[in-house]
Amino acid sequence: VSGEFERIDGFLRAFREAGGVSSGPEVPLGPGDDAALVSVSGPLAVTTDAVIEDVHFRRAWATPGQIGHKALAVNLSDLAAMGARPVAFTCALGLPGDVDDAFLHELARGMGRVASRHGAVLAGGNFSRARELSVTITALGRGGGLRRDGARVGDRLFVAGTLGEAAAELAGLVAGRLPARGAGTLHEPVPQVEAGLVAARLARCGIDVSDGLAQDAGHVAAASGVRVLIDFARVPRSARFEALTAGMDAATRAGFVVAGGEDYALVVAAEAFAAGPLGEAGFVEIGWIERGSGVEVRGLPPGTRLAGHDHFG
Ligand SMILES: [Mg+2]
Repeated sequence: VSGEFERIDGFLRAFREAGGVSSGPEVPLGPGDDAALVSVSGPLAVTTDAVIEDVHFRRAWATPGQIGHKALAVNLSDLAAMGARPVAFTCALGLPGDVDDAFLHELARGMGRVASRHGAVLAGGNFSRARELSVTITALGRGGGLRRDGARVGDRLFVAGTLGEAAAELAGLVAGRLPARGAGTLHEPVPQVEAGLVAARLARCGIDVSDGLAQDAGHVAAASGVRVLIDFARVPRSARFEALTAGMDAATRAGFVVAGGEDYALVVAAEAFAAGPLGEAGFVEIGWIERGSGVEVRGLPPGTRLAGHDHFG
């Protein structure tokens, strides 16, 4: 293991090898000074999220690249849920003594691939020694008008992305039924950045599904003072979800879809006129907004559990 400055250099080199950049028109000064300089006009969406070993991931189940991928992707998903375009992010790493340079560089490359795909500039960061591995990211995005309190009675409900796969894979890993490090939604979630930018022009309300569809729709219902209706049969699932859950009973499979977390799909509420353009952008209509409170999922198999996601709990 090299010294701290060499480690930072090595991290940045690996990040750039994967296509990531650490300066640009909106980040005239990146890592290396006391602080970065970010230059944008208009509102800035700001979010922060940490992934922590044995809380959000296990080193035995995810590759270092997948850990770096997910740490950034979950933050970009929160920007997508605001309808904001990623600009820059900072990254603070907690590093135990047994994390070697090869591990660190693979993590940086996973992060660099996601940063490159979505145009997020690494503006700075920090390394510190820690008991467990953690990656804390703060991400900045331009614009964004999708708010949890923006749903109105009569709006329709749409989703970009699929539901259930991450929870189905996690359950398989916990039960020892699945091989570790699968390349799917659990370890390599795709933030719905493009869909969020389209939705920001057509809708007022959005949220990303990190804790489970029913629970996150409940945040919209509470913030907007409305009732959210979801038609279970219309909720999109991935081909990999179907494969992972083939042969399971209907209530278990439905539980993954409506209560499983970590899929990072994007849910928006919009007026009926938006259905066409949202559909062209990949959104699927799954329900509507009524007067009242709470969330109702229609068409669930008997015995489906609606409780939200609690990581390894
Ligand atoms: Mg969120």
